[in-house]
Amino acid sequence: MRSTVTRMHVGGFLAPESYGPNERLVVNAWLVRHPEAKLLVDTGIAEHIPAADVEELKFVRVPILDALAAAGAASDEIDAVVNCHLHADHAGGNVHFPRARILVQPRELAAAREPGYSVLEDLDLDRGRYEQREGEYDLLPGVRVIPTPGHSPGHQSVLIETDVGRLLLAGQCYRDASGFARAITALELARAGHPGAPEAPAWLPRLLELEPDRVAFGHDRAIWAADA
Ligand SMILES: [Zn+2]
Repeated sequence: MRSTVTRMHVGGFLAPESYGPNERLVVNAWLVRHPEAKLLVDTGIAEHIPAADVEELKFVRVPILDALAAAGAASDEIDAVVNCHLHADHAGGNVHFPRARILVQPRELAAAREPGYSVLEDLDLDRGRYEQREGEYDLLPGVRVIPTPGHSPGHQSVLIETDVGRLLLAGQCYRDASGFARAITALELARAGHPGAPEAPAWLPRLLELEPDRVAFGHDRAIWAADA
């Protein structure tokens, strides 16, 4: 079954020094209209990020409900939320979807309960309808969840069949589309026996095996596209 996917711009911030000095990052979330359900992939930036962090990272926050309204949907229409991971800039609006199932990998949920990992009042871990599902699975026909750990212990990506091909929403498994492209190059070099290629994450061959036509990221507006 094919879905229609709408990207929502839900804010941005200044990258931490360790990530990329003086770099501004966008924050994306996606509305997925599937024939059987409406899904969200990520829910934007938390409202209750500590003031010191807001000051340091210059957060600009577009409330997820505003972004969703602009995309033509409302909170009570959302059946399920898939967060790529539970950091405060990807799951910060989860509290606004009390009706929706929230799909997480067990390791991510465990991490989110650790101090300082995220903003718990916006995640709503205790009242939200969190469902732990481990590994790779089909959430719906044409919507597949794939574990892509690294940036966080239970990071996951979502492959969606659309009218314009297979779209992979890859969250923060790479910081941007170019980083993903470079990782593929490194993997190809390693496979061809060239020494010194950086090691690829164990899941990268699996992602490529799924033959995505396009790959979109949580903090990039550029989209990776397969060779025509
Ligand atoms: Zn993160």
